[in-house]
Amino acid sequence: MQNVKLSNGVEMPTLGYGVFQVTPEECYRCVRDAIDVGYRSIDTAQAYQNEAQVGDAVRDCGVPREDLFLTSKIWISHAGQEAAAASIDASLKKLKTDYLDLMLIHQPFGDCYGTWRALEAALDAGKVRAIGVSNFYPDRLIDIAEFNRVKPMVNQVEAHVFNQQVEARAVMQRLGCVPMAWAPLAEGRNGLFTDPTLAAIGARHGKTAAQVALRWLVECGVVIIPKSTHRERMIENMSIFDFALTADDMAAIAAMDLKQSQWFDHRAVDTVLQFMQWAKSLC
Ligand code: NDP
Repeated sequence: MQNVKLSNGVEMPTLGYGVFQVTPEECYRCVRDAIDVGYRSIDTAQAYQNEAQVGDAVRDCGVPREDLFLTSKIWISHAGQEAAAASIDASLKKLKTDYLDLMLIHQPFGDCYGTWRALEAALDAGKVRAIGVSNFYPDRLIDIAEFNRVKPMVNQVEAHVFNQQVEARAVMQRLGCVPMAWAPLAEGRNGLFTDPTLAAIGARHGKTAAQVALRWLVECGVVIIPKSTHRERMIENMSIFDFALTADDMAAIAAMDLKQSQWFDHRAVDTVLQFMQWAKSLC
């Protein structure tokens, strides 16, 4: 498994397993399967409401804790220094571990500065090995990086062949912040799994469209955390380290960029306000 080095020297696997939309009922089996087939990094969040099941699977899997990389995220309803600090302790308890490898601010809303100070304190206390953010657009990322003691080590954003985040990744690089892709398969939107460009590239390498999409992100220096509840797809999604894309392949994929989210328009006021209402009601 390939690793990437974060700005504080912590090594993070390039590939992990994401558990968004994995129900608490299924989560234990899925994480056990993922670790069993070789994943060593698991991405959860307070908002996914399955930290406890991830913790149970990690406890029972037989792989030493220090060989695993656990990421979670602080939800908006826990924003602010005190609430965020308490929520970090609650996450540790649910995950049944003394430390997280990476803790992120899930969304750039609410008292992010207070939340960031709680993360800095958790880092100092050894409760987390690395800290970062998620869904921070370049202006917010620059702000939090430039006016705090510790700069975000990771920014987890929507990134896939249809939303390549070229400019945002350039800003992250300038700040020494590693890009991490959520929805690296775009959850199959826009017909990703049967896309003719990806399928044709895959056919030349003996790979599927999904594997080409994931390999492309890795070659762009982006950490990936594909989710699947199917064991055979978990294996498919991790079998991407035995081939390399050509310059022509990279150019063809670059041309697929639609340069926009496949989920939200964050500049549409109604969308953002609706999202806030939902966000505040969750956990
Ligand atoms: P992905 O892009 O990983 O796509 C997951 C979907 O693709 C599922 O429906 C899965 O179905 C299907 N799938 C996976 N592999 C294959 C395959 N090889 N062939 C065909 N279908 C496949 O989407 P996610 O939204 O889950 O993103 C990944 C992770 O990123 C999340 O689990 C979460 O950890 C994180 N995330 C973070 C967010 C944030 O705000 N920070 C937001 C969203 C996600 P099936 O399960 O049936 O196999």
